[in-house]
Amino acid sequence: MTLDLLAVPLLRRSAIDALVPHLLSARTVALSTHINADGDGCGSEVALALLLAQKGIDVRIVNPTPWPAMFNWLLESGVRDESARGAAALREADRLVVLDISDVRRLGGLADAVRSLPVPPLVIDHHLPGDEPPGTLHVTDTTACATGELVFDLAVSMGVEITPPMAGALYAALMTDTGGFRFSNTSARCLAVASQLVACGVDPEEMYRRIYASVPIGRLRLISEALRTIEADFATGIATIEIEAGQLARHNVTPEDLDGVVEYPRSIEGIRLALLFRDLGHGKVKVSFRTLGTVDANQLARRFGGGGHAKAAGALVEGSLAAVKAKVTTVARDLLKEG
Ligand code: AMP
Ligand code: MN
Ligand code: MN
Repeated sequence: MTLDLLAVPLLRRSAIDALVPHLLSARTVALSTHINADGDGCGSEVALALLLAQKGIDVRIVNPTPWPAMFNWLLESGVRDESARGAAALREADRLVVLDISDVRRLGGLADAVRSLPVPPLVIDHHLPGDEPPGTLHVTDTTACATGELVFDLAVSMGVEITPPMAGALYAALMTDTGGFRFSNTSARCLAVASQLVACGVDPEEMYRRIYASVPIGRLRLISEALRTIEADFATGIATIEIEAGQLARHNVTPEDLDGVVEYPRSIEGIRLALLFRDLGHGKVKVSFRTLGTVDANQLARRFGGGGHAKAAGALVEGSLAAVKAKVTTVARDLLKEG
């Protein structure tokens, strides 16, 4: 039997067909993603921007936090980033598409502006449902390895040519959200789509170099300090790692440069749950949850007002680093005992 892995799944196809007319009827479209945009957010935005530009639509990116320097190369394709203009740039567009978000609060400082738009945004996403969905018209599928996979499906469904810059942006989305094609979301279809993107002109080594082999030296200095904070409790299978307030600035790195740091505690034999605590320095702590096996990271993160996926989730928790760490590990320990 030959499996057509590239065929767009049926339910996705019908959601895409319902969304497309709303995209094509706009003259100006704004694209947005979550605070501290990651490779999936940035890659999906750039690919969708290039797709819409092929259809003659004027597109701009308007994100709640500045475009990450590590993804500047994606903008060389000519896509406009107007994040600095904030809500005004959103309101000027006929339509907003929100990518890689299932809860409007993930839009940070833009959330209120998005809530009060005259036309609700279109949503393309692969997260588990949040408490306050950003829009009602959506293409959402938690089985997609990345939002980029859904943008690929949109391009295929619309019969748009996947140009080399689009393919590169989509490959960056898939590669970063799967941890370099290693995590549990690395499905057969994910690899088939990646293979297709290589056929469209992506050079995997160049992508590796741009994303994993172009980090600032400060990332390594910071990791060397953070590794010393690792605590592993083998009785419960929980490991933690900490980043203090001011540590990023001291090493001249940004939050995006921390991608993958939580994999260090997760990589320890016998660990089922890894927790990264990053003190934001203003009374809040960013917690990253990563699990192996059956522990539900999304369920745990939701207990603290956050969310995400079954095996990777996050939350912003109020309190000092020590207090948040104590609170979260206590809840996690109880949950793991129950399981
Ligand atoms: P992170 O730990 O920030 O790498 O995030 C892991 C996953 O959880 C990503 O898919 C994020 O989009 C999601 N996530 C992170 N923080 C939150 C939050 N506060 N609320 C909902 N989802 C989140
Ligand atoms: Mn993301
Ligand atoms: Mn994603």
